[in-house]
Formats: sequence, structure tokens, C-alpha cells
Amino acid sequence: MRVGILGAGQLGRMLALAGYPLGIDCLFLGGDRNSPAGQVSRILEGGLDDNAQLDALAAQSDVVTFEFENVPAEALKRAAAGAPVHPSVDALAAGQDRLQEKRLLRNAGIPTAPYVAVSETADLRRAESELGWPQVLKARRLGYDGKSQRIVHSAAELAAAWSELNRVPSIAEGWVRFERELSLIGVRGAGGQTAFYPLSENVHTQGILSTTVAPYQDPQLQRTAEAWLKNLMERFDYRGVLTVEFFHTEAGLVANEIAPRVHNSGHWTIEGAETSQFENHLRGVLGLPLGSTATRGHAAMLNLIGRMPDPTAVLSIPGAHLHDYGKTPRPGRKLGHCTLLRSRREDVEAALETLKSATP
Ligand code: AMP
Repeated sequence: MRVGILGAGQLGRMLALAGYPLGIDCLFLGGDRNSPAGQVSRILEGGLDDNAQLDALAAQSDVVTFEFENVPAEALKRAAAGAPVHPSVDALAAGQDRLQEKRLLRNAGIPTAPYVAVSETADLRRAESELGWPQVLKARRLGYDGKSQRIVHSAAELAAAWSELNRVPSIAEGWVRFERELSLIGVRGAGGQTAFYPLSENVHTQGILSTTVAPYQDPQLQRTAEAWLKNLMERFDYRGVLTVEFFHTEAGLVANEIAPRVHNSGHWTIEGAETSQFENHLRGVLGLPLGSTATRGHAAMLNLIGRMPDPTAVLSIPGAHLHDYGKTPRPGRKLGHCTLLRSRREDVEAALETLKSATP
């Protein structure tokens, strides 16, 4: 079985590593041999705009998928001419444009932050009168990890922020007062079979995920979020892993973002669940039976950003699982992560504090 994968970052690397024991071979396009995925798996030379290589990838693969959401829809369409593609081009496109994403969520009856589409100066005045302050101005396309977005507190700041974004089509979002951030990761297989991990609790620093602790146990919220994901998956006849990020507010869950792929807030599932999100994505796209999403206790994940820690310091913490993505350090760059498991929530929270003090 071979899965062709567009993109070659750390998510691809972890998909490849999950495939090995099952004899699933991953073949990449969109990076080089030094990329996180290229270091551990076969990679075709060329970019995602290289039609000959897209055709070659599709010809050699039983199914084609992608590992980051800014894969050009054109590239996925091209691959779809030569092999089945999962998730679909439509699902990819829906997550690429923040305005389309909001409309999709609202159409599915899923609450979102109030928003105003910004494409001309008059829209800034609408945002001011409809949303109050602060707001978050986000470029509609190509933003991730807090990039291409600004928090603004006044009309002057909003106008300046839009200029800084080069007046690209954007959305202004009302500020959501949340108690915590949660995400739900689900997987859908052939024939509509679904499985869901428990909600994960996420802390972001400057727009980048810093820590995840799971499971976040709230049966009512879990049921609500699962029903929403199921609805979204059915709309796209979805195959593979889908993630939705939520704000947990006094009034319940408010959806922030959809990611039609494996997700950073699910890295803990490698050690913390019976089947990891990576293995389940491969199973889903290949049409294999899905694996159990049951947990193996309480998990905490710390992202290693900008600088890798001394491995001796991290590995001296009992049960620490260190993942190094093989990337060149750069400020703000996700270089690896570390996961800890404990049987009790308070113990994993304490271990996470120890882990934080062992990392730069
Ligand atoms: P995003 O790129 O949309 O995932 O945003 C990154 C992070 O910024 C989120 O995880 C939140 O911590 C914060 N954030 C984004 N949008 C809002 C909002 N409308 N209200 C409050 N915080 C937000």
C-alpha cells in the first residue's frame, strides 16, 4: 500500500513513521531530502506546482493525501486525475479561506465568533460598529500559527493592521472571551465509519500552540463536538482525520478553525491513545478499518519551539517521549515536541511543569 502525500513537514514525517509497522509506504512531494518527511521516507524532487511530479506521485500511489492546509487546491486537483484523493479538494478548499470556513460552520449550525468580511475601506467601519473592541483581523488566506493576524483595539489600529496585511481580503473577528481552548480530532473511513478522540485542552502563546493536555473530560461537550464534526464530515463524504479548534465560553463551544488533516493538538495520541491520529489518518484514506481511539491515561504535550532542549534533561523525566523533527532551529519554528503520560490528571499536569523547566 502506498500513500502519496503533498507536503513534507513534521506532520508528513509522523504519518510516514506511523505507516512503517503496517507496511504502508509514504511517498512525498513538496520538499527535499532534508525536509522532516524527506529524512525518513522517499520524496520526489520538485514543488507542488510541478505537474509532471504530481502525475508521477499519483501514478505510484493507491491514494493521495496532504499534510498541510496551504497545499494549492490546483495541485490536489491535478493529483486527483491520477489517483483517489482524500480528504477531497472541496474539504481542503473550505479550510483555506477563513470567510468560506465561517460560512460553512454557520451553515452547519456551529457557532463561530461574530465577523465582518473586509475587502474595502467601508468594511472597516462596519467592523467597528458591529464587533466592538478588541477585534482580531485575519487575512482570509495563508495564515497559520498566528501569522497574518493582528489584535486591534481601535479604528485607527484596525486600519493600520489592514495596511500591514497589504489590504488583502481579510475578516475582522469579534473578541471571544473564552475560558479555555479545546480541539476535537475525528476520523472517518470508507463507508462512513467514524471515531473520535477525546477533547484536548490547548494553550497558545502568541498564536502558536504551546501545550496540550488530554483528555478534557466533559461528556456533554464531547457529544456536541462529535455531532458537529460528524455533520461536517458527511458534507464532504470525508475520509481521513478532521480537526476543529474551539473556544470554550460561558455559553458553550464556539468553533474557531477547521483543519482537514492531522493536527498538532493530537500529537499526544502517538503514545496516549491505542491508535494515533497519524495511523488512523492512513487507515481512513486507504479504506482500512479505523483503530481504537481509547486513551492510555492522561497525556500532556509540550511543543519545542525555536530551540531544542538538552535531550538528557528531557529524557531524565520518567516516561518522557521526545520527538525531534530534524529541522534547523529558527525563532518561532516548531522543531519537535515532547509527550508525557500519567494515570492521573494532576500528575500529568505536575510532570508538564517539570518538563517546561527542562526546556529553554
Ligand atoms: P487562529 O490562527 O485563528 O487559530 O488563532 C490563533 C489563536 O489566537 C487562537 O488559538 C486564540 O488563542 C487566539 N484568537 C484567535 N481568534 C480569536 C478571537 N476571535 N478571540 C479571541 N482570541 C482569538
